[in-house]
Amino acid sequence: MSQRHVLPTVGIATRGRDKRERFSVGALYVDAVRRARGLPILLPPEEPALETMLDRIDGLLLTGGGDVDPARYQGAMHERVYGVDASRDETEIALARAAVERSLPVLGICRGAQVLNVALGGTLFEHLPEGEGELLHRARGKSVLHAVHLVSGSRLRTLLGKDEIVTHSYHHQAIRSVGRGLEVVAHAPDGVIEAVELSGHPFAVGVQWHPEMSAQTDPTQQRLFDAFVGEAARFALAISRS
Ligand code: MN
Repeated sequence: MSQRHVLPTVGIATRGRDKRERFSVGALYVDAVRRARGLPILLPPEEPALETMLDRIDGLLLTGGGDVDPARYQGAMHERVYGVDASRDETEIALARAAVERSLPVLGICRGAQVLNVALGGTLFEHLPEGEGELLHRARGKSVLHAVHLVSGSRLRTLLGKDEIVTHSYHHQAIRSVGRGLEVVAHAPDGVIEAVELSGHPFAVGVQWHPEMSAQTDPTQQRLFDAFVGEAARFALAISRS
């Protein structure tokens, strides 16, 4: 079988339609998937043929963005909740659930990790404390660097090959209770959940940090995309043989 034939397609969920009638997604996600030898396919919300869209991809990348509507996880509205998009929530939660059911490799980043959690019945903190003395998970309009401790024995720890990594962080929400089947596999120094993985699934990982921001220069962060796209390639091969 030619290499070209097995180049796996990675669906990358985009932001919802904005006020200027645009769908958009960060180019760094696309770059990281391409470096991992995946073929990026952008997945905008509002798709009526969602199942057909799913049939065309070998991996699902859930990207960062605005907050999930707290109503999706029986949470409370908070004055700092921003960027809620009902259409994007609807699409991405459905995609995440389908990926779990189909054993389709899925990588959730920041909002994407939260979407994966909510899709499996988990809940979120609507707003993390950002006062003096608190570990910062974002700065005004930009990311911050903080350490993340990986849980020994987890697949993510094995994959990244380190007990502690430095990550780009840009979030004000986090996982509160984990969804069905998810295991907590990383924490920030303040105890905030920074990664989850789904047991019994080939590859369903959610990271609260932004690996795409440093993956070009940090091989540890790129390894996450390489492993994800590698699983997508295995998924593609299994589908083509069945
Ligand atoms: Mn963080």
